[in-house]
This record gives sequence, C-alpha cells and structure tokens, in this order.
Amino acid sequence: MYAVSSPNSQYVVAKFGGTSVADFDAMNNCVDIILANANVRIVVLSASAGVTNLLVALAAGCDNDKRESCLKQIRDIQYAIIERLNTTDVIREEIDRLLENIEMLSEPASLATSDALTDELISHGEVMSTLLFVELLRQRKTDAEWFDIRRIMRTDGIFGRAEPDTLQLHTSAREHLHPRLKNTIIITQGFIGREEKGRTTTLGRGGSDYTAALLGEALGLQRVDIWTDVPGIYTTDPRVAPAAKRIDKIAFDEAAEMATFGAKILHPATLLPAIRCGIPVFVGSSKEPEAGGTVVCDKTKNPPLYRALALRRKQTLLTLHSLKMLHARGFLAGVFTLLSRHNISVDLITTSEVSIALTLDTTGSTSTNGSLLTNALLTELSTLCRVEVEEDMALVAIIGNELSQAKGLGKEIFGTLESFNIRMISYGASSHNVCLLVPGKDAEQVIQTLHRGLFEA
Ligand code: ASP
Ligand code: MG
Repeated sequence: MYAVSSPNSQYVVAKFGGTSVADFDAMNNCVDIILANANVRIVVLSASAGVTNLLVALAAGCDNDKRESCLKQIRDIQYAIIERLNTTDVIREEIDRLLENIEMLSEPASLATSDALTDELISHGEVMSTLLFVELLRQRKTDAEWFDIRRIMRTDGIFGRAEPDTLQLHTSAREHLHPRLKNTIIITQGFIGREEKGRTTTLGRGGSDYTAALLGEALGLQRVDIWTDVPGIYTTDPRVAPAAKRIDKIAFDEAAEMATFGAKILHPATLLPAIRCGIPVFVGSSKEPEAGGTVVCDKTKNPPLYRALALRRKQTLLTLHSLKMLHARGFLAGVFTLLSRHNISVDLITTSEVSIALTLDTTGSTSTNGSLLTNALLTELSTLCRVEVEEDMALVAIIGNELSQAKGLGKEIFGTLESFNIRMISYGASSHNVCLLVPGKDAEQVIQTLHRGLFEA
C-alpha cells in the first residue's frame, strides 16, 4: 500500500448518479450543489438515466427496429439537454459525433468483433453527460474543465468489470489532477477506464460510485459525496415500510453489510477505498439537498443493536437430502466441490444430520438466481443426494451490531414474526446480521412487521 498523505485534504469529490443528470433541470440542481460548496473540485458523473441501459441493449445486439429505437432514445435524451442549453454549435457537433460513433459501434458487424468494442460503445454515456455538464457550468459562469478519466484510470483487461490499478492511480491522479484542483473544477466520468493497450474498459454496472471513492483515496480528499435520488440511507426501503427512518451516521462495516444484502444505495465495492483510507462518504439526494443525508464513516457513537433491514428477492433454496451423510466424512466437501465446478457460490447454509439447505449467491451475476441452476448441475447433484428446489424465496437480513452477543434476540425477532413461516435462519456466523429466508409473497409484510417491532417501538 502507498503512504497516506493528504495533499488535498480540504477538497471534496462529488459524484452525481444517472437520475441526478437525467435532464437539464436535474443537471442544474447538481450545479447548485457544486456551487454551494467551494471545496467541491472534482465531479464524477454517470451517464444520463437510461442511457447506459440503452447502450447495453445495443451492445447485446438487437434487430434493426429495436436498434433504431434505442439510438433514437439516446439521441432524444441528449438533445433534450442540448436544446435547453443556449449553446454554441460546438457542443452540438461534439455530441453528434459521439452519436455517430455509437451508431457505428452498434452495427452488428462491429459488435461481433470484440468485448473491447462493447465497452467502448457503453462508455459513450459518461462521455456525453460530462461534456454537456461542462457546457452548463460554463453558461453558469463557472470555470470547469472536462477531464478524460481514462488518462489516469488504468485498469486490467477484463472488459465489463475491469479492476483499476490503485497504485498507478495514486501516482497519475496526483500528477495530472492535483495541480489543476486549485484553480478549476474538474468534471470527469465515472465507470470507465483504460487497459494497458489503451482500449476503453468499464468497471461494472453502478461503477461510478467506485470511481469517485477511488479518486477520493488517491488524492487524499476530505470526503466523497454521493448524490443520488434518495436523501440518504434508511432503516429499510421507505417504499416498503413508509415509517423507515433516515440513518444520519452509519459505520463502514454496517453500510457494507447493507450493500451486500441488497440495499441498492451504494455499490458494495464503493466503500472499499473509503474504508482503506478512512474517508467519510456522504449520501444525499440532488433533488433535495436541503434534506441532508447519511454520513458513512469509520465509527459511530453507541451503535444500536438493530441498524437496518435489507431485502433480497428471487432467492432459490436448495435442500439436499442423503442418508449417506449420517456420520459420513467428506459429503459436504463433495457437494461444495461440485457447486464450485459449476461456478456457483453459496450464500446461506444450514445443515442437519441428513440434509443441507443452501441458497445461491447471485451477487455480480446478471441473471436472477433461478437460472444459475442448470440441468447439468441438478443431474450431477442428484447422483449424490435427493435435491429439492424452492424458487421465489426472499432473504430478509436484519443488520446490526454485536447481534451474536445479545440476549433475548431470538424471542424478540421470532415473537414479532410469529404469524409467518420462516423457511430458514442463519445466525451466529456474523455479529452483524441475522438472515431469514421467507416465501417471496410474504417478504414485504415480513419487512413491515419487523420494522414495526424492532425499529418503531
Ligand atoms: N452508467 C453506469 C451504469 O448505469 C455507471 C453508473 O451509473 O454508476 O451502470
Ligand atoms: Mg447509476
């Protein structure tokens, strides 16, 4: 690891997500936020909402009608912004050139050629949003500089989910960004990078948060601000339980736990650079900055026993029965070796004398759980044991502190849930969570009931 020194400790990096730069008005809100804090000197943007999805659809290849429709939607989103900028032709020409590129790269003949071209295609969303944003800042009489993050964000060559080289970033960010920060605001792209040979890579969906945190770390900044469409992290999703409360301050490990268990606010990898160097991360809504937000930091005073509830839907439960398991050695090893050969990572697990229950981990997978179960896997498993599959389950995670030391916790949780069927329980491995598997149809009610019992009392 490199030495931690903080040449820019007063500065802040602000990241605005897709909905925050979705259109002209949304972008204007972001400018207000930037201008309200003179310390915000680096701004990382996502593509305007919807654009990355459209580019991904184009990259996947589609029939001509669908292709035309995607291209038109991308153009409409960008043009709706240009139209409101009372702008020179320069930016219009620039965007037109990028739109032409997109058209060219999404021709079936180009797509077939490589993953590298796919990432090149997908990177256009961030390139366009940042160009338009710089133009808007200039119109608002603010000195801003467009910076191509690929100049400093060197990654490995795994297209689609490339991993940045943090050591290299540390050096190159200090060389290229540091001298500029004093005099201007840098506007740059999240999510994209460049591999050794100079080809564009992407860091995985939702990767802009990660970019911002990496820059915060590399430059030793004071804080990473993540502006999104919700004013902070809540005790649970307010759309499911309207009484959910905003958490004003939360520790890194609790927030990481929430991200892992499906709270969609922060990308799980985002916190890693922040944790490494202890930089606080603020999460707020660019639509209502005055509403405040959540600060994620190293430690909080008196962390509560119960912190939050997270919900992950579409879980598949596998129950494996075998009498051979009784007092046997190596049965679990056999099952897990097989699962690993089929590239399946196991999430929750409980065992009894003659059976194992487990759920599949779909983190990082684009498929929703069920499709991880291939016929080949099931056939092989059935040579070892009898297999039962239950689909459409939901994982409810109760996240908190020192849970494994608490007294009376079982009574409290299960008393609250006495009218529900709980299919599986995982408790004891981590002091930060208790996980319950419930039928998917009950999931929302379970969250509401638990929230009432544990958070609203
Ligand atoms: N635009 C990219 C995506 O939608 C990256 C991001 O928004 O963080 O996944
Ligand atoms: Mg996003």
